[in-house]
Amino acid sequence: MVEFALAPTRPRNGANPPEIRDGSVVRAVFLDIDDTLVDFTTASRAALTAMIGRSDMWSLWERITDEYVARVVTGELDYPTMHRRRTAAFLEAIGVAVDEADAARFERRRAAGMRARFRLFDDVLPCLTRLRANGLRIAAVTNASGTHQRAKLEELGLSPYIDHVAIAGEVGAAKPDPLIFYSACAAVDCEPHEAMHVGDRLRTDAVGARKAGLRGVWLNRSGARATVPEGVTEIGSLAELADQVEYAIAGTVVPTPR
Ligand SMILES: [Mg+2]
Repeated sequence: MVEFALAPTRPRNGANPPEIRDGSVVRAVFLDIDDTLVDFTTASRAALTAMIGRSDMWSLWERITDEYVARVVTGELDYPTMHRRRTAAFLEAIGVAVDEADAARFERRRAAGMRARFRLFDDVLPCLTRLRANGLRIAAVTNASGTHQRAKLEELGLSPYIDHVAIAGEVGAAKPDPLIFYSACAAVDCEPHEAMHVGDRLRTDAVGARKAGLRGVWLNRSGARATVPEGVTEIGSLAELADQVEYAIAGTVVPTPR
């Protein structure tokens, strides 16, 4: 006779226990790319610091970048134009007078410096290996430029693990719009409730996915304090994600050794 026990859980706090033990099937895991798989912020910040010789302008850079990315999401700008204009606006904001050609040159050098610094987080390959071993389909779901993201996945050795890449600019909808999640579900042949989406942005990734009917998982690597809405799971690492997926596959019970 096999004895069964409730699967162990590893809640990060009492208010937000994992909601994975409902016995439903998980067929696919979707992952955001930047700051979920790839340490984008460290690379981008270091490249900017190297270019301007100071490290105190990062929050300004992020704010201006967010403004320009929003204009890509609305369809007002394409990515190459956005990158050039964003960088020109940033240089102007820090008092550097440049013409369009100077800004484009700065942006090329900055982007090259950033790409050379891209690294995977240590928990990425072990997690993807475990997901694969459990037969799950894996998709990357990103709001950033398709050309850049596909090159990044290839250069960092992630392509063999990923069945599909959903790119906002190609789908015509950006996270948290449910359409981008539905397009990924269609591509890997699963229903929304059979998929889980994991990302570092609580609203854009986890809450957006949850509202689309997927399992929404917030990857909070820094341990930031935030109110996590009901139905969204918070994890601190991708090792926790692999644990939870394995519990989900096992259903509500797992065999325990006699
Ligand atoms: Mg991200």
